[in-house]
Order: sequence, then structure tokens, then C-alpha cells
Amino acid sequence: MDEHGLFIDGKWETPTGAKRFTTRNPATGEELGSFVSATTKDVERAVSSAAKAFKSWRETPAPKRGQILLRVAEVYKRRKDELGATVTKEMGKILPEGKGDVQEAIDFLEYMSAEGRRLLGETVPSELRNKYCMTLRQPKGVIAAITPWNFPTAIPNWKLAAALISGNTVVFKPASNTSLCGVKVVQAYEEGGLPPGVLNLVTGSGGVVGDALVTDPRVKAVSFTGGTDTGRQVYLKGAEHLKYVHLELGGKNPQIVLNDANLELALDGVLFGAFGSSGQRCTATSRLILQEGIYDKFLGMLLERLKTFKVGNPLDKGVDMGPVASADQEKKVLAYIEVGKKEGAKLRTGGEKLKGGAYDKGYYLAPTVFEAKHGMRITKEEIFGPVLSVMKVKDFEEAVEVANDVNYGLSSSIYTKDVNLSFQAMERLEAGITYINAPTIGAEVQLPFGGVKQTGNGGREAGTTAIEEFTEIKTVFVDFSNRLQKAQIDG
Ligand code: NAP
Repeated sequence: MDEHGLFIDGKWETPTGAKRFTTRNPATGEELGSFVSATTKDVERAVSSAAKAFKSWRETPAPKRGQILLRVAEVYKRRKDELGATVTKEMGKILPEGKGDVQEAIDFLEYMSAEGRRLLGETVPSELRNKYCMTLRQPKGVIAAITPWNFPTAIPNWKLAAALISGNTVVFKPASNTSLCGVKVVQAYEEGGLPPGVLNLVTGSGGVVGDALVTDPRVKAVSFTGGTDTGRQVYLKGAEHLKYVHLELGGKNPQIVLNDANLELALDGVLFGAFGSSGQRCTATSRLILQEGIYDKFLGMLLERLKTFKVGNPLDKGVDMGPVASADQEKKVLAYIEVGKKEGAKLRTGGEKLKGGAYDKGYYLAPTVFEAKHGMRITKEEIFGPVLSVMKVKDFEEAVEVANDVNYGLSSSIYTKDVNLSFQAMERLEAGITYINAPTIGAEVQLPFGGVKQTGNGGREAGTTAIEEFTEIKTVFVDFSNRLQKAQIDG
């Protein structure tokens, strides 16, 4: 098992007397790597390194910064199979999804590298003669990037590539249980030729490392993706320092299926949306809202398909779903299954830990379907596991009402052939993302990603909006009249 250090000022290092922790494959229990539990002192050094590198990096022309990102993308392309397998081994999603996680990083790096030739400001007319009015985009400074384990390559790269192309320097703290992926993310930037200090890695517990980053006054902005409770703490701490905090949090995403839908298509959609990555996507489908005319038929089709749904080692071909990511995840999901049973939801399949043979070495849960009533906790709270609550509604109106009646608002989906209702759904579903005739998962990097309500605090990752999270707008007036001109006063 390899021992990994922190990455500070362009060097991998292990502080003297450092404590260590390991990560494990949730499918087999195998130890994957050993990592430094960074202390607040280590965080201080990482922030100093980023602060020192900032001047030179912000002065590096953005197209040159873009060329480095493109080289990082090349590293990921070359190592895609190996990195995809690392994602699969460390957090348990099936191999095609592990590679997809890496592909998303490649896509975004390519997209952001071109952004180095744009970083658009605006030029608008002045109310006075011989005067220019324009805006420039400027970097914020040192950014803390704090990320979850469910997309351990894609989400860090969403943050790093956008922050770096904008001229910021970064201290990156990956989720502890995907620290190996975090190390590999950073190695690619090192190999791509990023100058020392521009990107630093500190591994270790959120309570220590994350907290030290959020409270360090030299960190100008925090980009955080994770659970809503953690996000709230980060937001409150950041507020004490009047710090810009960008939050991407949980979801409770609905797929609506109306009577006129293509049911086979909707079935493929819900299987992928609810059980892809073992339901551990922030955009996972956790609520299936069926119109009454197709309720029995569609539920029957779903239960039938799940009979042949294969749960197993996520590295193996033909497996539909791997384990959940950790013992904590398993405990949390099983606890929610008990909640569902207690509140009277009808368990139609699954609802248990899988046992026997290879299952005994990992955190394998059966794909679970409840028939539930809207308002039960399992229909309102994020479970973040392979548990789907199915609900019956009378019509489109009730479907939208139920879909919207949760605290979250990340993704949403509707299956119907009715053009008018599709457009009404686009308007009325309270979510940052709406899919028409496609599942709640499947974002593309060239479009904004984020949610409303308690899914975040208004920002968006990906797309050109990512740049907005990592830049300040400078407004510039250039008066070339050679005399004092007074806006609002001169005629
Ligand atoms: P989490 O427990 O909130 O952890 C997220 C990150 O925050 C980890 O790096 C964690 O470090 C760190 N952290 C923990 N306590 C902290 C503190 N007090 N101060 C600063 N940082 C702290 O979330 P998770 O279990 O990794 O991820 C699952 C959640 O992420 C789900 O709710 C999911 O919906 C959400 N998510 C949202 C999006 C989105 O874009 N909206 C995308 C993906 C996931 P440790 O690992 O060391 O605890």
C-alpha cells in the first residue's frame, strides 16, 4: 500500500510526526493507500504557498494558463482507464461510471482551457463623449476547494479548472474516503506543468482541515460541495469572515411519468437515475411520481426489471450496481429503510444488506423500492443511496405540486409526449435542472450546474457561470476627453 504526502509549494511531503489514515475499497475491504491527517499548521503552510504563488499566476496570460489545463486533460486522457478504475475501487461506482467521472474532468478541462481566450467582460456606451465604460474579470486570490467523495475526479476538476483559468491559486481538500483520487487529481496538474504553489493538496478530516481553510483570512473564497448540514456550517463560519462561500449541496430529485409517456424509455431512465452510482449522485432520482393511469403497469415493469438487476463487484463486466461507498453510508441508508417501514411505506423490493460470498466483504445493498405517500420522511429527506420512493398522483398539477414540495431543488425530470406540459414543467418545476424525457442525471459541462432552495446558495458550477464564482468584476471608466466630465450632471 502506497503512502502519500501533502502537496505544498510544488513538493510532496510528509510532515514530521504526521498521523495517517487509510482508504479502503468498499467492495472488498482492501486498503488502497495511506494519507497524512493534516494539521492546522499544515493548512497554514499550504495557504501561505498559494498566497505566495498568486501574484505570478495571476500575471500569467490566461491563454497560457489554458495551455496548462489542456496538458492536464491530456494526462487524464492517457491515464483514463487507470484513473477510472481508481474511482471505482475507492468509492464503488461501476467501472463505466468511474471512467465517466474521469471523462467529465477531461471535458471540463478542455472547455475551461478555451475560456482562457475569453474571460469575457463587457464594454457598454457611456452617457458622455470620449469616455469608455467596461468591465474586467479579476481573480479573487486563494481559493479553498472542498469536495465530496461521490464524484472524486469530476467535482474537484470543476472547481480547480475554473479557479485556475481565472488566475486564482488553490488549496484543495478532497473528501477523506476518496483521498487516493484526490492525490491522483493533483498529480495530473503536476505532470501538466502547473507552477509550484498554484495548487496545493491537504488531506485529512473536514472538521480540522476544512475548518482551518474556511477560517483562514487569506483564503478569499470557499467552493464547497457536500451535504446540506456541512454546507450550512461552512457558510456560517465563512460569514463570520465575510468570505465568499459557494455551496453545492443535496438533492431529492423527482422523475415524473405521465399517462402518455413512452414507458420503456421512462423505465430505462429511472433505473439509471435511481440506481446509478448506487443512488449516490446529488442528482439521483429518489422520487418516482407516477400518474394514476399508468401507476400499476409502470411499477410492475420496474419491479420486473429489478429481478435481473445485478449487484456485484463494480470492476466486473455486466454488473449494474456496486456497493455503497462506506460503512457510514450503509448505516445511514439502512436506517432510512427502517424509517420508511415504520412510517408505513410499502416495501416492494430490496430493503436489506446483501449477504453471502463476496457480498460479505463489502457494503452491498439491494436496490430498494417503496410505495410511499408524499410527506413521509423518505419522500422528503436526502437518503443518498439506492432507495426509490414511488408515489401516485392524479394529474400533471398534482405531480408538479408533489415534485416541488421538498426543501431541495437540484434536478427534476418529466416523461411525456405532450409538448405543452413539457414546457409548463420547464417553467414550473422548482429545480436548477429539468430534463424532458431523460433521467435526472446526465449533466454536460458546458451548461451551468446547481440548484435552488437548500441545494445551494445561488451559484452555479460548470458552464461559463463557473467563471463567475471565481472572479471579481472590476468596472473601469476611461475618460479621454482631457477635461472633467460629470456623469448625471453634464448635459
Ligand atoms: P460531506 O460529509 O458534507 O463532506 C463534504 C466535504 O466537506 C468533505 O471533504 C468533508 O471532509 C468536508 N467537511 C466535513 N466537515 C467539514 C467542516 N466542518 N468544515 C469544512 N469541511 C468539512 O458530504 P459527502 O458525504 O462527502 O457528500 C455527499 C453530499 O454531497 C450529498 O448530500 C450530496 O447531495 C452532496 N453533493 C452535492 C453536489 C452538488 O453539486 N449539488 C454534488 C455532489 C455531492 P471529510 O471527508 O474529511 O469529512
